[in-house]
Amino acid sequence: CSGTMELLMLENFIDGKLLPCHSYIDSYDPSTGEVYCKVPDSGKEEIEVAVEAARKAFPSWSSCSPQERSQVLNRLADLLEQSLEELAQAESKDQGKTLTMARTIDIPRSVQNFRFFASSILHHTTESTQMDHLGCLHYTVRTPVGIAGLISPWNLPLYLLTWKIAPAIAAGNTVIAKPSELTSVTAWMLCKLLNKAGVPPGVVNIVFGTGPKVGEALVTHPEVPLISFTGSQPTAERITQLSAPFCKKLSLELGGKNPAIIFEDANLEDCIPATVRSSFANQGEICLCTSRIFVQRSIYNEFLKRFVKATRKWKGGLPSDPSASVGALISKAHLEKVRSYIKKARAEGAQILCGEGVDRLSLPPRNQAGYFMLPTVITDINDESCCMKEEIFGPVTCVVPFDSEEEVIRRANNVKYGLAATVWSGHVGRIHRVAQKLQSGLVWTNCWLIRELNLPFGGMKYSGIGREGAKDSHDFFTEIKTITVKY
Ligand code: NAD
Repeated sequence: CSGTMELLMLENFIDGKLLPCHSYIDSYDPSTGEVYCKVPDSGKEEIEVAVEAARKAFPSWSSCSPQERSQVLNRLADLLEQSLEELAQAESKDQGKTLTMARTIDIPRSVQNFRFFASSILHHTTESTQMDHLGCLHYTVRTPVGIAGLISPWNLPLYLLTWKIAPAIAAGNTVIAKPSELTSVTAWMLCKLLNKAGVPPGVVNIVFGTGPKVGEALVTHPEVPLISFTGSQPTAERITQLSAPFCKKLSLELGGKNPAIIFEDANLEDCIPATVRSSFANQGEICLCTSRIFVQRSIYNEFLKRFVKATRKWKGGLPSDPSASVGALISKAHLEKVRSYIKKARAEGAQILCGEGVDRLSLPPRNQAGYFMLPTVITDINDESCCMKEEIFGPVTCVVPFDSEEEVIRRANNVKYGLAATVWSGHVGRIHRVAQKLQSGLVWTNCWLIRELNLPFGGMKYSGIGREGAKDSHDFFTEIKTITVKY
């Protein structure tokens, strides 16, 4: 029980050393609602020390060969892999996600992030063009930018943090990373492996704390020329404003309001389980999750019946329960926000077919105050409702009918976001046509979330600026220069 439990105390990691902080923030176990961990409440002072360490480490790290840096990344991947179970347990406890998800997705992908960029850094080339009539050769060179500021969210904590650290250091930058204050534990565990892997002191610094305090100190530090941010659109707006006077390089990976479009010739055997997963995986707390399902009218009733039946089979439960498909939401405030959308939908006359307010979750007494919520399906909802327009970022999806291809493309594009979409159809021409017209950085057809890390990842419209991936991340984390030689 909480009275006898010792609190986990995290420390900042600067210049290769774990350092205590002068004050701490409470961090909650989402499955119980109890404080179980204390996160450093860092600010300007810690950022100054981290910048000093990162500046000192830059000349030697940036002049290592790509092979040397690649070896360090591979060693880090091996060490993470050896700690997979321990990291998965920690991620699940800290975030509320199921242990199965942390074990099979979050931590393996974090390992893969380091291996992937360890390999891709060895294969980049630059360009050259000749201009013989003027006796000129033009070519480009790339150099690391300097100290990279990396800010990550709470939904896929280690996965998204390593997706930034790996390409940044592979390219020869030094970094200051700030994980979400809600989920800092696995980043702190990573700190302990950095020295062991041979990452030189100061190359990776991890400073914990809140966005407004330490996040803004990082964003406004004049010696940090680049910010890679994954999180919400309002925070991105603030970061953009704060960094504008410094003309910083920005990469913004933001939210979505992702449509699934299901045509009458879709293979429902495949489509239904995939759409349940795309709606509710990780409690719907993935930026790529489906939250608007458009179903062609001729199959609407059948789809809805089968979809709700399949959703009810998605068991909610304790994160440690291997039979649970959804765990706890990240925080009390977030749970209340997600629930408020259900209330609004009901007030607008929508129907809630399963989930919040309909089904019940039986939990042990200790977990009664945890932030649990079942997968929720809403129908009879208007396209202009906030549930169809705003990112809810929880286990909630809306299902609505459509008639024609042209109409559904218009409705799918009728939101401010443009991150991901799925299209289900057996007609190859239609798939290409619709995918082409959707305002979305990613379109999956007849599948969901199959990732090819080499190719660009990112969103259009309010879903962000820039792309991540082998070449795109390398481009972002390097400066390019064009040199002309007259011979
Ligand atoms: P958030 O914007 O609240 O926080 C993200 C990070 O920014 C945290 O580390 C936070 O401490 C920090 N931050 C907050 N205010 C700041 C400020 N003023 N200055 C500097 N840093 C600040 O987002 P969140 O709630 O942690 O994450 C959920 C959001 O992230 C959702 O919108 C989701 O769609 C999005 N997301 C996008 C992707 C993607 O790849 N496109 C991936 C995962 C999550």
